[in-house]
Amino acid sequence: MIMPDVKMHDRVQMRKKHPCGSDEWVIHRVGADVGITCAGCGRRVLLARAVFNKRLKKIIEPSS
Ligand SMILES: [Zn+2]
Repeated sequence: MIMPDVKMHDRVQMRKKHPCGSDEWVIHRVGADVGITCAGCGRRVLLARAVFNKRLKKIIEPSS
């Protein structure tokens, strides 16, 4: 399985928009589960890595 190389604080775009209208999220946890914070409303969501990989559209801005 291909694991997208996401890191803490990366800004990512997901395939589905959050109900608040934003499709951008910031990574706040990386591990077996990936934690993302909605850039629009600040809602935090924890996704299993496989689910995250499927929903990820692209990494907008990798943190340095
Ligand atoms: Zn939101």
